[in-house]
Amino acid sequence: MPTREALERVVERVRRTPLGERIPAGWEALTDLPFTTKEDLRRHYPLGLVTVPHEQLRRIHASSGSRGKPTIAAYTQHDLDVWSEVMADCLTMAGVQPGMVLHNAYGYGLFTGGLGFHQGAERIGALTIPVSGGVTARQALLLRDLRGQVLCSTPSYALHIAQGLREAGIGPDELALEIGLFGAEPWTEGMRDQLEAELGLVALNIYGLSEIVGPGVAAECPEGRDGLHVMEDHFLVEVIDPETGAPAPDGTDGELVFTTLTKEAMPLLRYRTGDIASLDREPCVCGRASARMSAVRGRRDDMLIIRGVNLYPSQIEEALLHVDGVAPHYQLIVERPGQLDELTVLCEGKGANLASRVKEAIREQVGVTVRVLVRPLGEIPRSEGKAVRVVDKRT
Ligand SMILES: [Zn+2]
Repeated sequence: MPTREALERVVERVRRTPLGERIPAGWEALTDLPFTTKEDLRRHYPLGLVTVPHEQLRRIHASSGSRGKPTIAAYTQHDLDVWSEVMADCLTMAGVQPGMVLHNAYGYGLFTGGLGFHQGAERIGALTIPVSGGVTARQALLLRDLRGQVLCSTPSYALHIAQGLREAGIGPDELALEIGLFGAEPWTEGMRDQLEAELGLVALNIYGLSEIVGPGVAAECPEGRDGLHVMEDHFLVEVIDPETGAPAPDGTDGELVFTTLTKEAMPLLRYRTGDIASLDREPCVCGRASARMSAVRGRRDDMLIIRGVNLYPSQIEEALLHVDGVAPHYQLIVERPGQLDELTVLCEGKGANLASRVKEAIREQVGVTVRVLVRPLGEIPRSEGKAVRVVDKRT
């Protein structure tokens, strides 16, 4: 846990913002402090929550925001330095060494993925290739010809690159890949197996969000691969019941909440991420004692309630990846033709009775009956950033 002084410093900073008036005068514990939501950021768009004079700002990032205004993140030089440091720590933990060739296929621009990895990689002295997203054939060529050892991208885009490598006739033995750092969207153990088999690397999960800093909030160690170590010197983590806001016990799924302990430009108290995960505070096999968060199961907003059963897209993914002949690309269509929600799973593949085998696997894994449509390989839209897994057609 951080020192009381660290928390008091953040509280004093946040008091300078319009959200400060919500902080109770005699607060004692973290749980006495108010939550901050994405709605708060929207209401004070674009720079209403900045606590420093504007001439001290050095950079702005923004997340696209699935609806409405983008969410702005502002940084001082100190904030950028901290970000580089936590990213460097995550990369080092993953086994990235000075001089290694790092192929960065995260998008550069307002999205924090590209520059976040870039800064951390340069800080530890990796040879950093800012490929960004897109032009998959070129990704495959550069990965082979520049001997990329570390691949950084969203997991869905990494699979797309793997497909590009196959199409270019480049086999895993022609590649130098050792480590993959995949994040920015939920993914599963089944996806990990697939990425490791197709790309011949160790696939590690990394987590972050622009509101808190960008990538580098937490990452897996290769020794344990059992939860992501949270960079607790800078980010205080909690998990809460998304309905009541009460703290969730360790090991129980709930909404991830972060307090930034060292951020200057836009410090946030108890920011509700909307991401669903659980916490483990037992020491890890790697020897690090920091709290670990589970892989994100999904977004609070992505939770589907299908005939009374709560489910996340990642559970469908897990079921799909256990069916022979199914490609790891899928989309979920939610409709409400009558009174009840209906879920259609679009997937790709070939093989006898594929639709009924997929339907059975999902029924076993999740306990709901869904409609399954199998499409030929390549028909489900690919994404170069975060994959669109759920299409909600309910009004
Ligand atoms: Zn560990």
